[in-house]
Amino acid sequence: MKNSGEDRQTPLLPSVHVSLKTVQNNYRALAEFAPTAETAAVVKADCYGHGMQNVGPALANAGCSTFFVAYLHEGVELRSLVGAAPMIYVFNGLEAGETEQFHEAGLIPVCNTLDEIRIVKSATPDLSLAIHFDTGMNRLGIHFEDLDQTLEALGDTNPKLVMSHMACADLPGHALNEVQLKRFICIADAFPNSRKSLSSTAAVYLGADYHFDLIRPGIGLYGGGPARPPGLKLKTALTLTAPILSVFDVEAGESIGYGASFTAKTALTAATVSLGYADGYLRSGSNYGFGVLDGVPCPILGRVSMDLITIDVSDLPERPQKGDRVEFIGQQAGYEIQAEALGTIGYELTSRLGGRISRTWGD
Ligand SMILES: *Cc1c(COP(=O)(O)O)cnc(C)c1O
Repeated sequence: MKNSGEDRQTPLLPSVHVSLKTVQNNYRALAEFAPTAETAAVVKADCYGHGMQNVGPALANAGCSTFFVAYLHEGVELRSLVGAAPMIYVFNGLEAGETEQFHEAGLIPVCNTLDEIRIVKSATPDLSLAIHFDTGMNRLGIHFEDLDQTLEALGDTNPKLVMSHMACADLPGHALNEVQLKRFICIADAFPNSRKSLSSTAAVYLGADYHFDLIRPGIGLYGGGPARPPGLKLKTALTLTAPILSVFDVEAGESIGYGASFTAKTALTAATVSLGYADGYLRSGSNYGFGVLDGVPCPILGRVSMDLITIDVSDLPERPQKGDRVEFIGQQAGYEIQAEALGTIGYELTSRLGGRISRTWGD
């Protein structure tokens, strides 16, 4: 593991540095914020692009003993990284042919249909299960009004966990929040011997009524997500930088990049860096996104290409040089702000960072 995001050994590659200590501190801060519940970790999609191989074990070392992934294969990988003890739930459920793999890796399927409950019940050897009720998001899960059929399908099987997911938790005043909470409380009453979980990161911020037995933050662990309650400090764990390949002067009236979509109104100094949409920096950042160099914001000029982005470096006190690294996500380029400039959210930005980016993990 290398320690520096500023690593000059990979000058021509965009690079990501993930601070494992920051992820661990974020985990502990969330756990302190919800002291009456257990704090699980959602590590699907390669820990939202932060790297399961390093982040999974770091979370386990920080005291996390319950994890959620989306797919069976993610659960199998996580199990090999964190050992036998932690509970690992698989959000997307299971198919009939997969019960043995779930058993072997000690994974718990989250059943989203009555059919999945039947698959688990008929599995040999026995499998544990969780149940996801849909309380109003209308995306995935057993409809909350199908409680009786669910209890019938379960028979004498007691789910380890009963959960639901909030549609509008990032909008604290939204009426659907209370509607979903009330429906979930009714469901919870029918499962006195199961653990209950309702809250992703944003729902955790709605208050203790939403915490139940187990909270399920994902984005918060990585330092993203909606505005946090006062007193809860989370830091961006990931830094994305790209090296300058070329610095040049542009005269007034000249255009930049494909489609000549930007024309210089006055003379300016531009720099082209090695980062592009093939690396997951979305093309929607054309003329909108930004990098930061020595604390100075440098707007993107023209289109984002597959491997290259051109930025305006005119505001820097000194002309930058080839090899200087420009930050696109990090302490200076806040990643929800960058995501907004790309017309998306932090989740999409980090989870799409591509395979050509050199990645390091450290403190
Ligand atoms: C992804 C996911 C989470 C975590 O959500 P964050 O907003 O990243 O905290 C929790 N629960 C479910 C069902 C999810 O799909």
